[in-house]
Amino acid sequence: MRILVTGGAGFLGSHLIDRLMEQGHEVICLDNFFTGHKRNILKWMDSPYFEVVRHDITEPIRLEVDRIYHLACPASPVHYQYNPVKTVKTSVLGTLNMLGLAKRVKARFLLASTSEVYGDPTVHPQTEDYRGNVNPIGIRACYDEGKRIAETLTFDYHRQNNVDVRVIRIFNTYGPRMQEHDGRVVSNFIVQALRGIPLTVYGDGSQTRSFCYASDLIDGMMRLMENEEHIGPVNIGNPDEYTILELAQTIQKLVNPDVEIQFAPLPQDDPKQRQPDITRAKEWLGWTPKVALEDGLKRTIEDFRQRLAAK
Ligand code: NAD
Ligand code: UDP
Repeated sequence: MRILVTGGAGFLGSHLIDRLMEQGHEVICLDNFFTGHKRNILKWMDSPYFEVVRHDITEPIRLEVDRIYHLACPASPVHYQYNPVKTVKTSVLGTLNMLGLAKRVKARFLLASTSEVYGDPTVHPQTEDYRGNVNPIGIRACYDEGKRIAETLTFDYHRQNNVDVRVIRIFNTYGPRMQEHDGRVVSNFIVQALRGIPLTVYGDGSQTRSFCYASDLIDGMMRLMENEEHIGPVNIGNPDEYTILELAQTIQKLVNPDVEIQFAPLPQDDPKQRQPDITRAKEWLGWTPKVALEDGLKRTIEDFRQRLAAK
């Protein structure tokens, strides 16, 4: 198949491209390189089955494809809050453009949505029918509400225009190729520990997250894309839940037991707890995550160690 991956030069997009290329598909990577980088897709640059197009998805584009994996959107709070109006445009206009393309060329379309559609959840763990608790005027809203309207658009194109759609809700995912200055918690702690500077725990560290390793996530995403019976939304994440302090202590133990843990103010609207209910992913897709946190962290630490040493 000919497959379009928007945001393909980013962290998850590039892992997805690796899998699609290994399966023998033709892949077009569309990216404006805001948070993505060419080094993530470098190994495919010489392949005749791979193309990269520098393009901002807030502008329309015409391409002939069979599948669209729509991932383009900054995912780290630091990056999506850098230019929040642009984040809204990317989610709203960008998703509209990609759905328009899917409609025109009759491609199957998958939206990479997020657990952030649940906001600061009052239901725990979160099931897909929970409608969420998002502050519509807070500093995370550009991303959370952007993804909520992206989901709305996706389901409306399905109902109104018969576009063949899929929606996954991704919970915190980590792994090799996260950016060094990404700002997300796993990359921050690993980089800090490797540099021997204090790990910055925001708040008292009692807030929780559930961390999924990238390869598990990509496996779930591809299973939903090729599933003929279900369109979603489906939660994809690892249900093992940790406090942020526990995560800091685990990384401290794995990298450098002498490094300090420092506490810093909790950002506004930071969700207190988050854990996916993955019953649907298990029943519909036969999917469960395979990589335990310590194993995934060890692989991620090794990747950062090599990159920092190369610098
Ligand atoms: P990332 O920031 O590494 O990748 C996003 C990619 O999109 C980058 O390559 C960036 O340059 C590109 N991009 C951003 N705006 C664009 C625009 N206007 N036009 C073209 N390209 C643009 O983030 P990621 O972690 O790989 O996330 C990928 C997708 O998965 C995002 O849609 C994100 O919302 C979703 N997601 C990720 C996580 C996670 O934990 N990693 C969790 C929930 C949802
Ligand atoms: N966090 C932290 N220290 C950091 C970066 C993040 O304690 O250096 C916290 C953050 O406040 C949040 C959690 O870790 O409670 C996850 O943050 P991240 O930005 O990775 O993802 P999200 O909040 O979007 O789930």
